[in-house]
Amino acid sequence: MIALPSAKDLRRQARDAASRCGVDLDSFAGDRAVNSPINGQPLVSVRWQHAADVDGVVTRAGEAFRAWRTVPAPVRGGLVRRFGELLREHKEDLGTLVSLEVGKITSEALGEVQEMIDICEFAVGLSRQLYGKTISSERPGHRLMETWHPLGVVGVISAFNFPVAVWSWNTALAVVCGDPVVWKPSELAPLSALASAALLDRAIAETGAPAQLSQVLIGGADLGQALVDHSGVALLSATGSTRMGRSAGPRVADRFGRSLLELGGNNAAIVTPSADLDLTTRGIVFSAAGTAGQRCTTMRRVIAHVDVIDELTDRLAAVYRRLPVGSPIADGTLVGPLIHDAAYKSMRNALEAAQQQGGQLIVGGRRRFADEAPDAYYAEPAIVRMPEQTDIVRQETFAPILYVLPYRTLDEAVALNNDVPQGLSSSIFTSDQAEAERFLAADGSDCGIANVNIGTSGAEIGGAFGGEKETGGGRESGSDAWRSYMRRATNTINFSGELPLAQGVEFTV
Ligand code: NAD
Repeated sequence: MIALPSAKDLRRQARDAASRCGVDLDSFAGDRAVNSPINGQPLVSVRWQHAADVDGVVTRAGEAFRAWRTVPAPVRGGLVRRFGELLREHKEDLGTLVSLEVGKITSEALGEVQEMIDICEFAVGLSRQLYGKTISSERPGHRLMETWHPLGVVGVISAFNFPVAVWSWNTALAVVCGDPVVWKPSELAPLSALASAALLDRAIAETGAPAQLSQVLIGGADLGQALVDHSGVALLSATGSTRMGRSAGPRVADRFGRSLLELGGNNAAIVTPSADLDLTTRGIVFSAAGTAGQRCTTMRRVIAHVDVIDELTDRLAAVYRRLPVGSPIADGTLVGPLIHDAAYKSMRNALEAAQQQGGQLIVGGRRRFADEAPDAYYAEPAIVRMPEQTDIVRQETFAPILYVLPYRTLDEAVALNNDVPQGLSSSIFTSDQAEAERFLAADGSDCGIANVNIGTSGAEIGGAFGGEKETGGGRESGSDAWRSYMRRATNTINFSGELPLAQGVEFTV
């Protein structure tokens, strides 16, 4: 049995949370249903914009850019500080909308909003730290330096599974770097997008920043494509499937735009014989079954040494059998619904393919609550023992399937970790420092994220986030990811009164 609030109650919760954030959903009413994966029923219907609207939006963002780029960066930080305060005030409202729209359990939905708050704090500090370098010149009486300037309009395309955090990672940095943002959120999650953007609009109005600094485009992939192709978008930051990135990346490159791609992952953990299996089991279960397997960093593969694979699989299976699957807004639930029927079908297809390719289903995979909620797709997270890394294991299936593979030598385990097209996140569970260092070394994991004794998901905002290969190569959030949102100018200043040329070149007429 699943205790579901009534459809009416879910609709009321969505309206109330949006309204507290300053959004009257009636003013966005249209013919596109926004379904909640909790019951598969519409929460509300919204109006979609058209690709033809994009040009006007980008043009207005360009006007905001011309005003904002000369505002001192620490003053720009003041806007982000206010936005962060509003996010704190409305953390529960946004968390509610995230749970209702994409089915995240309450604590993960609140965690997503916490990430938004954290990146605002980071960006406020960053607004006083947009450093360039001073470099020794080879010529006397000369100084060489680099300065960082605002880049231009940033287009953000985001995926359903982090419906608001990814936008805020981009926006908090873009705004302190002097750039306006045009956001095309997932068509599956327009409500949390409208609510987040309304809070930023309020901060913009209160601080006197240009009104068009933040704009939102509600609609489908055609809007994303129009942003991709618009020459007024200086940086396109696109998060989603590798299929989307394969289309967007070359098109942005074709117009010599800049892109930041955050695409699919196929993340693994290596478990060595010295691993603490209690900690390992907990780390794997959160990364593999959390968010119902719908994170880009979800752990999809465990590569376990032959000496521990049986015990580890037994331990994992025992925990999986106890995992509370249910309504994401009910107390105690750890695994909420899949986003829609297509996600459930891809899970079923992958499980079938895995078994045809020699896999043994250990636990899970069944649909739950189909009688009470026929339009919602709750699935038991699954574990499949695989004899080797077959085709299906090398694909990202965006659902909670964990493949468990054996290895004998650490070299073999690292090779398996790397032998997938994606390169986002990875981890090793070990008590042997040499093994950990081997995994982190130049010939170790080839992923953008490589962890020790912690799972593949749940990154902090302080580090740069992103991955290699088909994950797209982008880095956003912390560290020096801000550089993508600025243009670098190299300046040579001559105070010698002479005109010596570089490399000793003589050119005297
Ligand atoms: P998706 O690719 O279906 O959609 C993502 C966004 O791209 C949506 O806003 C969609 O409207 C837009 N879009 C789709 N096709 C487009 C095109 N041709 N041109 C421009 N825009 C287009 O992805 P999804 O199902 O929403 O999200 C799941 C996928 O996102 C998974 O593959 C997951 O790994 C990935 N993801 C990656 C990261 C990361 O940081 N690497 C984070 C979250 C999700």
